[in-house]
Amino acid sequence: MAGRAVDMTGAGTGLEPETGGACRHPFAPGDDDRFHEECGVFGVFGVDQAAAAVALGLHALQHRGQEAAGIVSFDGQDFHAHRAMGHVAGNFDRPDVMDELPGRMAIGHNRYATTGASALRNVQPLFAELAVGGFAVAHNGNLSNAMALRDALIRRGAIFQSTSDTEVIIHLVATSAQPTLLDRFIDALKALEGAWSLVCLTREGLIATRDPLGFRPLVMGALGDAVIFASETVALDVVGATYLRDVEPGEVVIVDAAGVRSLNPFPPQRPRPCIFEHVYFSRPDSQSDGLSIYEVRKRIGAELAREAGVPADMVVPVPDSGTPAALGYAQEAGIPFELGIIRSHYVGRTFIQPGEAVRHLGVKLKHNANRALIRDKRLVLIDDSVVRGTTSVKIVQMLREAGAREVHLRVASPPTTHSCFYGVDTPVRAKLLAAQMDLEAMRAFIGADSLAFLSIDGLYRALGEPCRNGIAPSHCDACFTGAYPTRLTDQEALEEAGQLALLAAAP
Ligand code: SF4
Repeated sequence: MAGRAVDMTGAGTGLEPETGGACRHPFAPGDDDRFHEECGVFGVFGVDQAAAAVALGLHALQHRGQEAAGIVSFDGQDFHAHRAMGHVAGNFDRPDVMDELPGRMAIGHNRYATTGASALRNVQPLFAELAVGGFAVAHNGNLSNAMALRDALIRRGAIFQSTSDTEVIIHLVATSAQPTLLDRFIDALKALEGAWSLVCLTREGLIATRDPLGFRPLVMGALGDAVIFASETVALDVVGATYLRDVEPGEVVIVDAAGVRSLNPFPPQRPRPCIFEHVYFSRPDSQSDGLSIYEVRKRIGAELAREAGVPADMVVPVPDSGTPAALGYAQEAGIPFELGIIRSHYVGRTFIQPGEAVRHLGVKLKHNANRALIRDKRLVLIDDSVVRGTTSVKIVQMLREAGAREVHLRVASPPTTHSCFYGVDTPVRAKLLAAQMDLEAMRAFIGADSLAFLSIDGLYRALGEPCRNGIAPSHCDACFTGAYPTRLTDQEALEEAGQLALLAAAP
C-alpha cells in the first residue's frame, strides 16, 4: 500500500462519528419526497491514468448519489484510494488528489445515503487486504439479508468497521474456504439476497457482476483496448467509450491481462430489473434494457394522456424529471407544452434554509412558477412520481398563488404503495401517501383539481411489454404492487422484532 492510507474505514482521511449502529437499511429516516437511487459505480481496466477516466464517469453518474464519492486504483504494485464527502467535482478535479491515484486500472463509486449513515467510513469503494490479495468493491444495490449475514459474521469473530451492507461481501470473501480470490468471491455471492451490481478491483484486474435478477443496471463498454464498466451508458458516452453490452443478470465478468471472460455461477432465472430506472432514476440520455430512457418516458407521458386526459390550456412538467413524460403527454393530447415552472440548478438537496421564518419558502428556491405564462390558465401538471406528497402540495399551492385557474396533476407512474429494499432510499411504507389514502383523499391532500396516476399496465405498455396482469412481470415493480421478487430476510426479522412500528412513528 502506498500513498494515502487505505482500509475499509477511511481511517486517516477524516473519519466522522456516526449515529447509525446497524447495516444501511431502507427504513432509515430522512427523505425529501423522492425515491433516491443510492449509488453509481464505474470501473476502468487498461488505460493510463485510469482514475481520471473513473472521475469523469462518476461525474456523469452524479445523479445516482451526491453525498460522497471514492476511487481506488492499482498501479501494478500498490493500491491507492481517495474517498470524500460531497460531489465528484470539488474532490476529483484536484491535481493533488488525482496524482495520488496512479495506475491503469481503477474503480469508483458515488454514494447517496441518509443523514447518520453518510459518514466517511461508509464511503466506497471499500478495500481490504485479504489472504488472497487486495480487494476493493463498489456496490450499487442493497442486500436484503445484510443484517442477518452481519450478525452471523460477528458471531464468528468478524470486526466490522463500517455500517455499510457492502462490507458483508468483503468479510464473506475473506472467510471463504475456497482457494482463489475469484472462487471466494463467487462463494460470497451465493450467500447474498437482494440487489447487487458490483465492480471490484484486484491485483489482477476487474470483476463485475449483477445479482441473478439484475435489479440494478450495469453496462460494459470499450475504449480502444480498455474495458469499462458503468451503472449507465451515459457514463460510457462521457469518457468516449463504446457501449458493448449489459452485464447479464447473474453473470460474473472477469477482465485481466488474459482478456475478458464470463462465468454464470447461478441457475438461470427470469430477470427482474428495476422498473423505476425507466420512470426516474436513470438519466434520460442513458439506455436500459436496450431502450432509450428518454423515449420510454415520452411513451409513459403518451400513455398517461390516453388513460387520463383532461381539458387544459398547457402541459407543465415538474422539472427536470417530469419533462420527457410531459412532452409525451403534450404531443399525444395536442396541448401546448410550456415551462410553467422554472428550476434553479444551484440548489443542492443539502441546502440549509436560513431559519424557521422562511422555511416555507424553501420550495421556491428549487422551483418557481412562471407567473406571466400560467396566469388564468388550466394546467396539466406532470410529475414522475408521488412519494410522501409533500412536494406536490407545495408545487400545486405555488401554481395557484401564481394565478393558475386549474391544476390537474398527472403522475407518470402508478401510486407508490410499498418501500424498496433493493438499493433505493424510500420512506417507511406508512409514510407513503398512496399507502395511506385513496385517490380522492390524495387529491384533496395535494389540493389539485384532479389527480390521476399511470396504471401499472400503462407503464408496461410504455416499455413495449405486455400488460402485467395475468403474466409473469418482466421487471421488479414491487414499490407499485408489493410483489417483491426475493425473500426479505432482514425485513422479516424487523417485523418479528416489532421494530417497524417504531420506525413508522418516527418523524
Ligand atoms: S421496489 Fe421499486 S424502486 Fe425498488 S427495485 Fe423494485 S421497482 Fe425498483
